[in-house]
Amino acid sequence: MVTRRSFVAGNWKMNGLKKDGLSLAKSLVSKVKKLDNSNVEIVICPPFTLLATTGSALKGTKIKLGGQDCHFSNTGSHTGDISASMVKDAGCKYVIVGHSERRINHREGNDIIKKKAEAALLNGLTIILCIGETLNQRITKKTQTVIRRQIVGSLPKSSRSKNTIIAYEPIWAIGTGKTATPSQAQEIHKFIRYQLVKCIGPSESKKMRIVYGGSVKPENAKALLGQPDVDGGLIGGASLVSSDFFSIIQSCS
Ligand code: PEP
Repeated sequence: MVTRRSFVAGNWKMNGLKKDGLSLAKSLVSKVKKLDNSNVEIVICPPFTLLATTGSALKGTKIKLGGQDCHFSNTGSHTGDISASMVKDAGCKYVIVGHSERRINHREGNDIIKKKAEAALLNGLTIILCIGETLNQRITKKTQTVIRRQIVGSLPKSSRSKNTIIAYEPIWAIGTGKTATPSQAQEIHKFIRYQLVKCIGPSESKKMRIVYGGSVKPENAKALLGQPDVDGGLIGGASLVSSDFFSIIQSCS
């Protein structure tokens, strides 16, 4: 039987000034130190402006740094953008690509996301590739079609379990306080794993981590993240409160 190491990432989104990021990171570091179970991979993804400050607080700890996005080009005339090599250079080991807020607010489609993911992999970053359906797509029973299209359209050929984490984030559950039920999450995670067999083969599909995101809180984390095909979480709002984020990490241990 394949055992997959749990993975929990906090996406701080566009929150925090230097002093906030530093105190949040320090508070988390002091809590995580007490955790003797090292079987959870922990990542935080602060805004780009906080990578240096947060990175210094995380040095030598179990918590790794991630970026929230990257451009597909390595350099050039892309005002306001950050390349994968810059994300890496800023101390990140991970980068989120395809978050629904990028897909919606910046009109990023699967083709762009795939190019970003490829650039990230080329630069030695591990990608956290987000996929998920809207409420309307769920109601009209298009969830599986949408998920299949997102996997086929945005997963790079060179994706493997060692460099890719899939984050299933139903859009209707992000920041809304609504969550998928544990059985809804398990159903889609199992479906994603089945789709991955076609893209990367059965052995890699079994090894690839598929994490859930969408209003995960200390109260619902154990039930959601305890499902057989749910290998951890991508946490938004609750990652801004160190005790909540730590409690979610503990529910994976
Ligand atoms: C997210 O944006 O990735 C997310 C899961 O947010 P929240 O936990 O706040 O729903």
